[in-house]
Amino acid sequence: MTAKRALTVLAATAAAALTVTATTTSAAAPARAAACGAGYVGLTFDDGPSGTTTKLLDALRQNGLRATMFNQGQYAAANPSLVRAQVAAGMWVANHSYTHPHLTRLGQAQIDSEISRTQQAIATAGGGTPKLFRPPYGETNATVKSVAARYGLTEIIWHVDSQDWNGASTDAIVQSVARLTNGQIILMHDWPANTLAAVPRIAQTLATRGLCAGTISPQTGRAVAP
Ligand SMILES: [Zn+2]
Repeated sequence: MTAKRALTVLAATAAAALTVTATTTSAAAPARAAACGAGYVGLTFDDGPSGTTTKLLDALRQNGLRATMFNQGQYAAANPSLVRAQVAAGMWVANHSYTHPHLTRLGQAQIDSEISRTQQAIATAGGGTPKLFRPPYGETNATVKSVAARYGLTEIIWHVDSQDWNGASTDAIVQSVARLTNGQIILMHDWPANTLAAVPRIAQTLATRGLCAGTISPQTGRAVAP
């Protein structure tokens, strides 16, 4: 390449860079102004902490997302450092029963044990005392609700099921996120590879729509500003 040719390329590159900057600025200015303008949604990840939690936390943090982690008590007890990692990454830690049974098939004492042991395991690990509870499979009844209430827990199901537990593709998971409106909550899981892969596009999708990842209010059961 001649020096003149190299200069031309450099000039063209610089011009392209300027163009990109200008385009980004004009296009992003309204988006920035509207950041969170459309409200907040609740991203939730169930069934951890596990061997995939660290990667998920890294991805969420790198993409500026915060989420609620509905942990199983047995895994919180086995991996207390991962519960602390969830907190350190800015996530909110919640109760998803101890062994993930079908709670509606259990008696009150067993339900109580599932919920109370998980509160204890998470608190002992350093995750604080959860305020939110999600029954496994979203299955609940009056007994489950009353036991949860006894521990000061608000029951949280979901508005949108990403189907990530059922083999949903990364595209499909992102499309599920795109259906969320202000205050709504989406069900995802700690373990699917497609969910981990979807995280950057989830962040992009929310930003484009003026939505931010929020915390879940124990008072209303809806996503709100952190
Ligand atoms: Zn679950």
